[in-house]
Amino acid sequence: MSHVDIHRRRLQLLVRRLRARGLDAILVSQPENRYYLSGYTARNHGIQESAGYLLVPGRGSPYLLTDSRFQLQAEEEAAGFRVELYPRGLARLLASLLPALGVRRLGFESDYILYSTVGRLQKQLQAVGVDLVALRHMVERMRMVKDELEIELLRSSVRLNERVFQRVHATLQAGMSERDIALCIESTMREMGAERPAFETIVAFGENGARPHAVPGERLLAHDDIVLIDMGLVHKGYCSDMTRTFVLGEPEELYVERHRLVRRAQLAGMAAIRAGVTCREVDRAARQVIRDSGHGVYFGHALGHGVGLAIHEEPRLSSRSRRKLRPGMVVTVEPGIYLPGWGGIRLENMVVVRENGCEQLNEDTTFLDLE
Ligand code: ZN
Ligand code: ZN
Repeated sequence: MSHVDIHRRRLQLLVRRLRARGLDAILVSQPENRYYLSGYTARNHGIQESAGYLLVPGRGSPYLLTDSRFQLQAEEEAAGFRVELYPRGLARLLASLLPALGVRRLGFESDYILYSTVGRLQKQLQAVGVDLVALRHMVERMRMVKDELEIELLRSSVRLNERVFQRVHATLQAGMSERDIALCIESTMREMGAERPAFETIVAFGENGARPHAVPGERLLAHDDIVLIDMGLVHKGYCSDMTRTFVLGEPEELYVERHRLVRRAQLAGMAAIRAGVTCREVDRAARQVIRDSGHGVYFGHALGHGVGLAIHEEPRLSSRSRRKLRPGMVVTVEPGIYLPGWGGIRLENMVVVRENGCEQLNEDTTFLDLE
């Protein structure tokens, strides 16, 4: 199936959802949703400076609304979309377009638009008889289940991330700082063909690893330090996310014991994944292993999250989520324990939910099963 066909099919599905909600059109502002529906790759400079919006009406061709900086790119990439510029602002353009398209009820993505933008839209659109309707997760819900082409793209993102890890790991030695290693990982990502890091790389030594989102600093690596590396990259639009924890030299017995505990929790989480189970059941399966060992209070975060065009997306493998897993969802499984003053251990892989189980996207097995 060509890319044009893929986008056309996604748009058809979206239009069906719009009609079911009694809407005449949707304004898409969320950047990954915009890409998912159109193939337009421009990125926003923050939420205040959009690279464009999609206007998808219930009938007729869809629009890509942007400014002159992006015109050529928009026309090249968004096949089947009519490109319109807004030299006098989005609100004015919509006020002139929507009545001609017969739009009376316009949905907008309330999770990704500024309050001030909505205010301006409301003012201009009220005057032409268009009502705004706040929507949540309409396109995100479509993105949750990946098709086989997306799964292949995620797999190649994961594999590239692993090759970067393996290359950098081979160069590690005592005396390097957390920042040195993070920098090396991020430049190696780009050297090896990634578009960019998917998030700021986490490299934490020793007790710094007790903070799950530690920022790499000047601390120097010692031979017996615990090293926690959480890294991910974007490749062909799709994100990867992987964590490995290890000791450069010979690990002490306590470390080995705790590492094995986290690995057992990860395997228990993976074993619980299949179509039809709820996210909280999967979280519980892994968490129970850590609780039974008396480390429950040291595992504060959710077991995992969806990954796709965005690094964190639905579904969340959290103790609060009653959402049922469906085939084609892609999630991380990343239990961890964080002991203040000692350090942290987290192991993270990505899997695809299948009818009767899960398929692991990772091939790297370093530091998963300790001798
Ligand atoms: Zn991660
Ligand atoms: Zn993650």
